[in-house]
Amino acid sequence: MDKSLFTKATYDEHDERHHGAVTFPIYQNTLFTFAGYHKPANPFTYSRSLNPTVSELEKKLAALEGGEAARCCGSGMAAITAAVLSQVKAGDHIVCVNQVYSGTRAFLENFIARFNVRTSFVNGASLQEIEAAICDDTILLYLESPTSFLFELQDLAACAELAKRYRLKTIFDNSWATPCYQQPLKLGMDLVVHSLTKYVGGHSDVLGGVIVGSKEAIEQILENEGVLLGGVMSSHTASLMLRGLRTLPLRMERYQRTGMIVAEYLSKQPFVHKVNFPGLARHPQHELAKQQMQGFGGLLSFEWDVSPEQAQAWADKLKYFRNGCSWGGYESLVLVIAPVTAFGRSESHMLIRLYAGMEDPDDLILDLAEAFAEIL
Ligand SMILES: *Cc1c(COP(=O)(O)O)cnc(C)c1O
Repeated sequence: MDKSLFTKATYDEHDERHHGAVTFPIYQNTLFTFAGYHKPANPFTYSRSLNPTVSELEKKLAALEGGEAARCCGSGMAAITAAVLSQVKAGDHIVCVNQVYSGTRAFLENFIARFNVRTSFVNGASLQEIEAAICDDTILLYLESPTSFLFELQDLAACAELAKRYRLKTIFDNSWATPCYQQPLKLGMDLVVHSLTKYVGGHSDVLGGVIVGSKEAIEQILENEGVLLGGVMSSHTASLMLRGLRTLPLRMERYQRTGMIVAEYLSKQPFVHKVNFPGLARHPQHELAKQQMQGFGGLLSFEWDVSPEQAQAWADKLKYFRNGCSWGGYESLVLVIAPVTAFGRSESHMLIRLYAGMEDPDDLILDLAEAFAEIL
């Protein structure tokens, strides 16, 4: 991991405007009045467009991603939908990876399809499949690597090159890796989106999203999707996100270490068919992962040849892994998803997602082992 990440996430300049307060103040106001009749140079007029606390978070997130500017939103989905809407008009076509986050998929497949924007979903691991899906109307390539649930990678640099060749814009969901472990803008992506609800918030108590990109693109989004759709982030949320950011690099190191211990433990169990974690040396895309990522978090899945009922009974026996759908907080989680046939595969193994949180790795392994012993 880039050491300066710690500095970027932690350091704030002494700021006389705020009496040297070490945390950025929460600007709890909707409007900013002007000293005179004429609108001042001060960019702040109304918090639906800009708020200083939110702008502070945007500045930090842009710096961490290596982007020029950022726009925060009320949730990851608000960021994703605004980013997509900023790029498309009726008649356009999008190419998107298959196992994209379920909300993104529903938005593309059902919601904007109503406005005559069509999407083809492709296997992101195959550059040929991505290229074959591009048609005359294609304007956008939507990527998420690693993908939700199966954690498959796309080759970012190759996808960026392909997009340039066909004059497509690219949007990339970087929630899994965070800017600590992957900087897609540096690999040629146009816009990066995040659910800040996960690792950045980090304590399962705040929802948020962000779009990072060029100054020009973000200004356009601010004026259109930002102000007109109004899915803004509040200053209180921004303050909690700024708090989360300070410890993000530190927490990622811990999640990665525990995630690796859990992945290695699972991969040694003879009844586990497959562990989906690109940090494992035996993962089929590990070399690509090492090329384009600097680390891995604590979210993984595994495939197990049991019935859905057995898998659920096993999950219910876990103590530290609580049944739940999100991730990125302090608490470990388990989610029994579905047989892998739901993802177009032929085997009937159950797919189970685990999120390794802040608990002691020994306790987590013991928890898994005891639950397995009761079921097997
Ligand atoms: C959770 C998630 C989202 C959606 O974020 P919200 O903050 O819940 O709206 C988008 N992408 C990925 C990869 C996610 O895990």
